[in-house]
Amino acid sequence: MYDVIIIGSGPAGLTAAIYSTRANLKTLMLAGSQWGGQLMLTTLVENFPGFPEGIQGPDLMMAMRKQAERFGTEIVEAEFKEGDFSKQPFTVRTAEKEYQAKAIIITTGADAKWLGIPGEKEFRGRGVSSCATCDGAFFRGKNVIVVGGGDVALEDATFLTRFAHTVSIVHRRDTLRASKALQDRAKANPKINFIYNTIVEEIIGTNKVEKVKVRTKPSDKSLLTKSVEEIQKVTAPSLHPTVLSKDQESVAWEIPIDGVFVAIGHVPNTAVLKGIDIDEKGYIVPKDRTHTNIEGVFVAGDVHDAHYRQAITAAGFGCQAAIDVERWLEEHK
Ligand code: NAP
Repeated sequence: MYDVIIIGSGPAGLTAAIYSTRANLKTLMLAGSQWGGQLMLTTLVENFPGFPEGIQGPDLMMAMRKQAERFGTEIVEAEFKEGDFSKQPFTVRTAEKEYQAKAIIITTGADAKWLGIPGEKEFRGRGVSSCATCDGAFFRGKNVIVVGGGDVALEDATFLTRFAHTVSIVHRRDTLRASKALQDRAKANPKINFIYNTIVEEIIGTNKVEKVKVRTKPSDKSLLTKSVEEIQKVTAPSLHPTVLSKDQESVAWEIPIDGVFVAIGHVPNTAVLKGIDIDEKGYIVPKDRTHTNIEGVFVAGDVHDAHYRQAITAAGFGCQAAIDVERWLEEHK
């Protein structure tokens, strides 16, 4: 019997574990088959306090894990399969084993949605990113695109203009989804171009991203009757595009580019959690601070936070959840 089982092993889970074990709570972490969360896919992390020269994402996670284990966290590298949170003690199952605890902290995180196109996986960390805040500073003086038309895409684009020479927002429709305020701010920024009705089909390079192949289905079909030279002038002229082909419906073209920021949303990992209140996008809705709708089940990190999504904020939420668990166990002795 554990005092607390933490489901998930990113910054939120590991910070919760450091706090819960230091509070003398018997703690088990179900880390998943690939422990560590999104930071394991990141290269240099420059904005986590305490590392003036930056730290590699996997190194940061390994340091957190060692710290959690030093105080006695038991870590099982297995996937959470199902949980029974309807009665005390709570039961949590993996494919092979069953565990019981008085309290649960859910820190299963969220994953960035990806386009699923050729080159995207290959160049992740070498020009392809889903986190402008994390990786923007590597693109000083460069030309980048941001894929997506929501609030995050426009916020990311505006943020990236601090570093990049040009930022082009590539959106699949002719209308942005983002709020008017964010649109107005982005449209007023001379470094930002908008490329509408366009999907990215391939990311191309040798060691790092060099260009993207995109396809535009223009609302104004008269563009398609123009010569290749004329189309080149109309479609993002500052980016020196090359028209590859055109047909009745669309024009395919290539843009030389240094970075591709994918900002098409996130998916919280809540699919296997039963009975916990979630919103329409799948994020857990806390009832009060880190408490969920089920007494004794707590939440921390990106699985309930679509807004900040930073390693340091996830770690902060993990700390809060562990303190809430400690107090809750004390009250319900
Ligand atoms: P979002 O609002 O769901 O927008 C996702 C964007 O990506 C949409 O424009 C969508 O196109 C596009 N997209 C989705 N799948 C795609 C695909 N496979 N290929 C190409 N494009 C694709 O997500 P978000 O921007 O990440 O925002 C998440 C939530 O946080 C939202 O509720 C947002 O309002 C909120 N938020 C608010 C603020 C703020 O208030 N300051 C800041 C950040 C985030 P379509 O438009 O065609 O669907």
